[in-house]
Amino acid sequence: MKALVLFSGGLDSTVLATQMKKDAEETRLLSIDYGQRHAKELNHSQQVAKHLELPHEILKLPQLGTILGGSSLTDKSLILPEGHYAEESMKSTVVPNRNMILLALAGGHALSLGFDTIAYAAHAGDHTIYPDCRPEFADAMDTALSLADWNTLSLHRPFVDMTKSDLVSLGAELDAPLHLTWSCYAGNEIHCGKCGTCVERKEAFALAKIPDPTKYEE
Ligand SMILES: [Zn+2]
Repeated sequence: MKALVLFSGGLDSTVLATQMKKDAEETRLLSIDYGQRHAKELNHSQQVAKHLELPHEILKLPQLGTILGGSSLTDKSLILPEGHYAEESMKSTVVPNRNMILLALAGGHALSLGFDTIAYAAHAGDHTIYPDCRPEFADAMDTALSLADWNTLSLHRPFVDMTKSDLVSLGAELDAPLHLTWSCYAGNEIHCGKCGTCVERKEAFALAKIPDPTKYEE
């Protein structure tokens, strides 16, 4: 398997990148600047890639954000919700059709590299909020990608039934550089500790009983 990992520099895709480095014959990382409200996670993606010594590209498409409105992740005029990740209010962080767009870009790049696999790190905790992280979506994208070219291409989504705390446990087991990852939607100097993804991150380390290396405000 030659795998291109759709890689944000967050915890989930860092565990995935570490796993693929171990399992795949060849692994490359692709990050995409789609106009997210802060560039923090892209800086962290570079640090993780360097640590893992994996080839990494950042595709800069910040203008994508201008046609993907209505999400508090791409629109700075909207207020970021605080509270638990699975709450109804977190739906404002959905970026319309983001994963289909990012996976389509990754698919084109994977085929041009002669790679047979795209790996993405959607996990069970994402399902309530993000429709494009559900297993049904991943299955349909796998089918579409397999039909996109005469060469074989499949979507590897090993975490789709795992919880975030399962990913923290697996990351610790694999010695993934969790300390270099960035989750926070706010993009301040350190993690805010209050947005949905900070709350989820804290909870995952606590449930996994792994010491949380993250510095939070407060
Ligand atoms: Zn935060």
